[in-house]
Amino acid sequence: MTDKSIKTLTVDQAAEEAADLRPQLLEWGKQYYEADAPSVEDDVYDRVYARLVALETAFPEIVTPDSPTQRVGGSSRSDLPKVTHDIPMLSLGDVFSLDELTEFDERLRGNVDTPFDYNCELKIDGLAISLRYENGKFVQGSTRGNGQIGEDITANLKTIKSIPQTLSRPLTIEVRGECYMPKAAFLALNERREAAGQAPFANPRNAAAGSLRQLDTRVTADRQLATFMYNVADYEPLTTRTQSGLLDELAELGFTTNATYRVAHDMADVAAYIETYQARRTELAYGIDGIVIKANELPLQRSLGATVKVPRWAIAYKFPPEEVQTRVLDIEWTIGRTGVVTPTAIMEPVALAGSTVARASLHNPDYLIAKDIRIGDTVLLHKAGDIIPEISQYVAAKRPAEAKAYVIPTTCPSCGAELVHLDDEVALRCINPRCPAQLAEGMNHFASRNAMNIAGLGPQIVAQLFDRNLVQDVADLYRLTTDQLLTLDKFGEKSAQNLLTAIDNSRNNSLERLLFGLGIRHVGAKAARSLAAAFGDMASLMAADSEQISAIDTVGGIIADSVVTYFANTQVHELVAKLQAVGVNMTYTSGTPATNSTSEFTGKRVVLTGKLQELTRPQATEWLEQHGATVTGSVSKKTDLLIAGEAAGSKLAKAQSLDVPVWNEAQLQAAMDETK
Ligand SMILES: [Zn+2]
Repeated sequence: MTDKSIKTLTVDQAAEEAADLRPQLLEWGKQYYEADAPSVEDDVYDRVYARLVALETAFPEIVTPDSPTQRVGGSSRSDLPKVTHDIPMLSLGDVFSLDELTEFDERLRGNVDTPFDYNCELKIDGLAISLRYENGKFVQGSTRGNGQIGEDITANLKTIKSIPQTLSRPLTIEVRGECYMPKAAFLALNERREAAGQAPFANPRNAAAGSLRQLDTRVTADRQLATFMYNVADYEPLTTRTQSGLLDELAELGFTTNATYRVAHDMADVAAYIETYQARRTELAYGIDGIVIKANELPLQRSLGATVKVPRWAIAYKFPPEEVQTRVLDIEWTIGRTGVVTPTAIMEPVALAGSTVARASLHNPDYLIAKDIRIGDTVLLHKAGDIIPEISQYVAAKRPAEAKAYVIPTTCPSCGAELVHLDDEVALRCINPRCPAQLAEGMNHFASRNAMNIAGLGPQIVAQLFDRNLVQDVADLYRLTTDQLLTLDKFGEKSAQNLLTAIDNSRNNSLERLLFGLGIRHVGAKAARSLAAAFGDMASLMAADSEQISAIDTVGGIIADSVVTYFANTQVHELVAKLQAVGVNMTYTSGTPATNSTSEFTGKRVVLTGKLQELTRPQATEWLEQHGATVTGSVSKKTDLLIAGEAAGSKLAKAQSLDVPVWNEAQLQAAMDETK
């Protein structure tokens, strides 16, 4: 984008520049709204958009009807039902500097005869939602969509704990706010996705958007989404007549609101608020990308009204991204378990937004080529969504004369096999099934906690086992000897013995751990358990066809096809035979009752919710399953029992409304003690 002052442009030049910007913005917007996968940083989008607005404001004759500035938002994805917003959900106008903010204030005060206050609020980096209540009951929830028409996501929103199903007063009201994914939940989700070979989400907002628009509500329920509500379509049903009072009243009604708001009398107060939260943004448990100021009197908001696109009584101040410079020392290629080869920039360590950063993913070869990052370059680094280090660009003025364009490898840095792109993927892959780097990643996964749970077998030990040719595959682990382990770095008699014991114990794991540990594409821990429980042993699963597998309740067609493809491979058959030969258990034993053949849980559908104090969720689930219960994720009429820990939310309310029996944790503990 050029910084050329608009004042020096001719109409033709402005029209030409605007014509360049529009298709680019439309394309970015489409990726953002329809695929939840933006190809540029929001900040870049916002600035290009602001430039187009500035051009069109200076030269109104160049505005075209299809310009992105003439729309409120993106269009909706077609597979969810539509909801018409009777009162449109407008997005806010943006400013990027205190000067622009002051201009907004002066303009507004010029149009209002009496003095007024602003309410300052954090701008939560999430997805706008609208919740409709009739006589105090939650009846419908939707996304903003294009502002006029959104998507019906009622079922998904019902899985979110912070959204009340019933209000403390029987109001008929439409409440608006933001749905977001807390930073910790986002990091954990991406970790799980990467372990499962799925692409990580770019930032918490995309993760929240992707989670909310799931057709399968169980996925949404798993994603730990949260909300802050901050607005109503019509304030008449409320008793308050101020924005700050509205936040308090929404909290009284049962909504989660953000407590950091502050009433500001003038721009000095606003600037102080901005300074406070700009400094604290990295400490917050959720992402913010700026602050919002709103005229505090609700009747004043109403009388000021809105333009076609934005309300006149509020504006968003966007934080500049925190950005630092550092130098790229190397570009490293790492090979994942599924063979994907990913470039990573290794940089001089630098402090950025609360942590020290020395690595940034360059995602794939196309990305690296597009950014033209070279070894020795000085680069601008920021954190996407406040957490993930990302290189925005190299600094042209600081590029060393000797820096050469980076050459993308054509062969695997681990095994030397030729790298390929499968089915038009952007990712580069090594497809050699014997590639040591992939095998090592696969072994790390095999040993991980939710798989075979081999304590003490970490990546450094795995790397040495492969380097010294002590193992070729995971079955070889079971043939390791003390003498062999003693040849590894820092290994003594005791550590060798501990590792052998851990490996030995893993032979007795129930089948689902082995299935998950094999790293079959799309088969996560949960699907592995369903498969193991349904088929009982490895041979039956291997003999099953796609139809038989997808007949299982929680297993879809994609997983079924992937399982069939996996077991069609003769190398897989050899590996399974080898595992069997070294004594690895091939049957499902988790479901077998530990003591009695029946218990009070046999055949019961049980749901766990809330926070348990003494037990972890997996422990409670495992125990219940061992005693014959089926543990499911959502409450329905078929549910026999809900076990509710602390801070149980919507599932508890639903169970009560369906007259499902509810136990607390102490009751579960008592039942566990009895069966001992
Ligand atoms: Zn390789």
